[in-house]
Amino acid sequence: MIYRTLGRTQLRVSLLSLGASPFGGVFGGVGEQQCKACLDKALDLGVNFIDVSPYYGLMKAETMLGKCFRGVPRDKFILATKVGRYGSDFADFDFSAKRVTASVDESLRRMGVEYVDIIQCHDIEFEDLDLVINETLPALREVVRKGKARFVGITGLPLKVFRYVLERTEVDTILSYCHYALNDTSLRELLPLLKAKNIGIINASPYSMGLLTEQGPPVWHPAPKTVKDACKKVAELCKAQGANISQVALHFALSNPDLHTTLVGTAKAENIQKNVEWMSAPVDQKLLAQVQAILAPIHDVTWPSGHPKNN
Ligand code: NAD
Repeated sequence: MIYRTLGRTQLRVSLLSLGASPFGGVFGGVGEQQCKACLDKALDLGVNFIDVSPYYGLMKAETMLGKCFRGVPRDKFILATKVGRYGSDFADFDFSAKRVTASVDESLRRMGVEYVDIIQCHDIEFEDLDLVINETLPALREVVRKGKARFVGITGLPLKVFRYVLERTEVDTILSYCHYALNDTSLRELLPLLKAKNIGIINASPYSMGLLTEQGPPVWHPAPKTVKDACKKVAELCKAQGANISQVALHFALSNPDLHTTLVGTAKAENIQKNVEWMSAPVDQKLLAQVQAILAPIHDVTWPSGHPKNN
């Protein structure tokens, strides 16, 4: 496994990391034995960074992780969770100081840990960004002061929300998703600012939340049809050539040296095994060029998320 320093946090995180949203059943039903096997396989293969949220499976992912963590020494993993998002509707967001402070305690209880390494504001584009800056982040700094978290981060889909917050206050990490993958590399535009401020860069969803997999995306996937169709086409092309679109996608996401860690979501040990193997396996450059040519017309095409003014 390759390890990189997560910006100013100085945490040494594995280049490939584990997104635990599937532990909450968001990509299909899961059982405790399966999740435990997945976590154990990840730790065995050197994956040391795990990301979760109370939102994933509406508390189920954190509860499941809590069961899987039993017997695992706390210093074997670096753990990030989130606050502020508790469902899909605007009414399910609450970034008030009172709610996020209580939320951290609830997450710690569910996961059976005394602290998390990173506490992140989850999908800030759904909130007034000035409230995040003036109320949520100060509350989370207080959480850090009390020893319940070590660092503070923000997550979201539209890249402009990161710029807005980073230009006005200090955070340790950002988690961006679906913006550094074969079909979308728009995160590149933010890298100079992130590097200048030595922000830890967590890149999530190298498979674009299932678009870049042979099985295809889940029904709830928000991408426009043109994007889904193009990704389906490249998956078929790869299969016809005896390759796997996910391998090409993972290789691509991991090849950018500026991204400190890339989160892949899975609750399956065999996927972890494959992903680690794919990290070092070569990719056919001719095939990669063909894939990129098919995806070119939809490159950087995204979808709205949160308040219109934040998109
Ligand atoms: P992803 O791109 O990692 O894709 C996940 C899908 O890929 C799942 O269906 C999984 O079964 C499949 N998969 C994984 N390994 C595979 C393999 N070897 N072969 C075939 N299929 C494979 O998307 P994701 O799970 O949404 O993102 C990763 C993680 O990033 C999440 O679990 C979460 O922790 C984090 N994330 C955070 C935010 C946020 O904070 N707003 C948003 C998105 C993702």
